[in-house]
Amino acid sequence: MKVLVLPGDGIGQEVTESAVTVLKEVAPGIELAYGLIGGSAYEEAGNPLPDETITKVDACDAVLMGAVGGEKWDNLEHNLRPEAGLLRIRQVMGVYANLRPARIFRPLLVASTLKEEVIDGVDMIIVRELIGGIYFGEPRGIDRLEDGTYRGYNTLIYTTAEIERIARQAFAIALGRRKKLTSVDKANVLESSRLWRNVVDGVSKDFPDVSLEHMYVDNCAMQIIREPRQFDVVVTQNLFGDILSDEASMITGSLGMLPSASIGDKQALYEPVHGSAPDIAGKDIANPIGAILSVAMMLRYSFGMTDASRRVEDAVDRVLAKGIRTKDISYGAQEVVGTKRMTEYIVQEIREGN
Ligand code: NAD
Repeated sequence: MKVLVLPGDGIGQEVTESAVTVLKEVAPGIELAYGLIGGSAYEEAGNPLPDETITKVDACDAVLMGAVGGEKWDNLEHNLRPEAGLLRIRQVMGVYANLRPARIFRPLLVASTLKEEVIDGVDMIIVRELIGGIYFGEPRGIDRLEDGTYRGYNTLIYTTAEIERIARQAFAIALGRRKKLTSVDKANVLESSRLWRNVVDGVSKDFPDVSLEHMYVDNCAMQIIREPRQFDVVVTQNLFGDILSDEASMITGSLGMLPSASIGDKQALYEPVHGSAPDIAGKDIANPIGAILSVAMMLRYSFGMTDASRRVEDAVDRVLAKGIRTKDISYGAQEVVGTKRMTEYIVQEIREGN
């Protein structure tokens, strides 16, 4: 079990330090290595994803990443910008399934813009296809027409193999949860969605214990706001998943709390959803919970350590229930603490929860 830690820039460095502290506490046997990514990698090696980091990626089972980016590097040419490092590492690792949980922590119910009685108990996960579909399909471009106006176009394309592998991931995840899978498409209009539906139906035969439903994307967008508790696992194509995962995650109301995983056949990448937050970097006020819950996802999905994963999630629950909060989630706080202190409280809860 080898984990490569890529802290990146801004608060990425602070929150990964917290996440690593928690990882060492619950899984001391995991071997750790460190590498560079993003603006800090550009500073040291002239490249947001240096070859040395790629070599280290090849040698690990999972990557734990902080965040990249910052104003300092905003004017660099496109392929040298920190964000280019992020896109490249996803490609290098071949991670095709992006997992974004949206789970309500009861003490934070008031942080949501939705009514408490609608969101209490929400616990869903969106599985988004990450490296195919309309974001990558060819042909694409903007052509100039004879009359001097333009035509912009992209291609939405999915093959049986691409749909099958993401569907298998989603069914397997549902099997480990409440055993309900919602496949989201636009099969009433799009041929690629009709193929999607057929292939997902085919894969479902290998997972008889998971109940499968199909839902059109417009209806799903509505249902996430109307009755989010109906969802367990949602699987969908890249474009729909991009939009629905942001919509679903905001039910919880707080960016600093959100973890994510991107999974391939051999390796996986774990990172909080938030960015490098230059406005609060270096001040010990960033919320480390998104990064810490990313570790919980790593334990579950890369190493099958579900008990250790649950210990981390339960510790976070208990700390929040005691009213201990970072500044960004300070509603109803008993005590507002910084990044390091929050981490210490979570580690203490993990020990006491043993
Ligand atoms: P951001 O997520 O960094 O910050 C948005 C707001 O949320 C800020 O006010 C910030 O202070 C706050 N915030 C974010 N995470 C927080 C946390 N853990 N605790 C407390 N408050 C938190 O998004 P942005 O400001 O749009 O982008 C800043 C930089 O991050 C940019 O360079 C952007 O390109 C980059 N970015 C990187 C990633 C990534 O690495 N995956 C994702 C998004 C943005």
